[in-house]
Amino acid sequence: MVSKKMLDLGNIRSGIRDIYEYGTKLAEKIGVENVLDFSLGNPSTPAPREVENTIRHIVTELSPKDYNSYTSAPGDKNSRLAVAKNLNARFGTDYDENNIFLTCGAAASLNIIFKAIIESEEDEIIVNTPYFPDYKVFIEGQGAKFVLAKCSDDLTLDIAELEKRINVNTKAVLINSPNNPSGIIYPKENIEDLVKMLNRKQKEYAHPIFLISDEPYREVVFEEESPEFLPNLYNNTLVAYSWSKSLSLPGERIGYILVPKKAIDYTDIFAAISGSARVLGYVCAPSLFQKVIKECVGVKPNIDVYRTNRNILYSALIEMGYVVPNPSGAFYMFIKSPNSDGRDFCERAKNYNMLLVPGEGFGMKEYARLSFCVDTQKVEKSINIFRILMDEYNK
Ligand code: PLP
Repeated sequence: MVSKKMLDLGNIRSGIRDIYEYGTKLAEKIGVENVLDFSLGNPSTPAPREVENTIRHIVTELSPKDYNSYTSAPGDKNSRLAVAKNLNARFGTDYDENNIFLTCGAAASLNIIFKAIIESEEDEIIVNTPYFPDYKVFIEGQGAKFVLAKCSDDLTLDIAELEKRINVNTKAVLINSPNNPSGIIYPKENIEDLVKMLNRKQKEYAHPIFLISDEPYREVVFEEESPEFLPNLYNNTLVAYSWSKSLSLPGERIGYILVPKKAIDYTDIFAAISGSARVLGYVCAPSLFQKVIKECVGVKPNIDVYRTNRNILYSALIEMGYVVPNPSGAFYMFIKSPNSDGRDFCERAKNYNMLLVPGEGFGMKEYARLSFCVDTQKVEKSINIFRILMDEYNK
């Protein structure tokens, strides 16, 4: 009656949503102020004032026809050009509107890319553990094999592990830096090693291996260190970007795909991206927000609260003896359970109305993920609970 494949993908429970729904019910019972809900990655800071002012300006000064209409499939030319110019100024590139395809956020960008490049069900796309759980649904949904490569103990890319997974069917390697769930930014040398290895493997198999860079957190970084701009290092890079997190617009659905001219068969890739977006029914990215992006592409996100939360949590957890990498970006902490059982850790936290997400959905069952895009007060309240939990384990 229905597609078995879609049924199976639809029935994969989202660990994140499950905990979030549990938290919503709990909040109805005991009051939202008493639930320390660290489950979802919904930005807690509102969209920057410039975004609000631009929306106000558009809806008061323009006719609804100007901002409610269809645009061309890749998006309004001037909006795409604004994105291209912003990238050129930051990364010394020479992009124009023909390199940018505006989308309904990173999830759309990724699905469009996967559908555009997958040629057969033998094709494989490699993802590094820990990973954003929806990757599995997206990759399998678009008809390729989902292949996992474990990261090193410090959660940076393990190039030797990755290399072992590459074979004649490898279509792409997907990376995400800053990473959800670890907050790690893959260091420059790590990326350089990846690029060397991929270039070697492309030669060996005599076909392109795409590097797909999923970058919704590019702008959410706490240190000087920022993620490498991969198209400048590896020609066959495709970037999936989103303003969901950087401009706190997750419900508005706006992002882009960058197809650099240096990518092999650039013209065909861009055409296949257009075909894929059409088949998936995206039509065009939201028209009003294409206009917002044209004006706000250079606006810096306000990440002060995330940085404060990160600092409070990280120093407290390390002092208590938890194993946790210090997130350089995004707004997640990936905490190792003291008994290496992430689910047990989350269940124990629930007893104190503190909600974390078990790491198994991210491919590492020893861990739990905490989203610190919340009010700082909640982070402060959590410290005592983490101490009680550590004492329980040490008994
Ligand atoms: N990729 C990663 C790593 C994410 O964390 C998310 C959302 O949390 C997405 C993609 C999807 O983002 P978007 O809202 O832009 O579709």
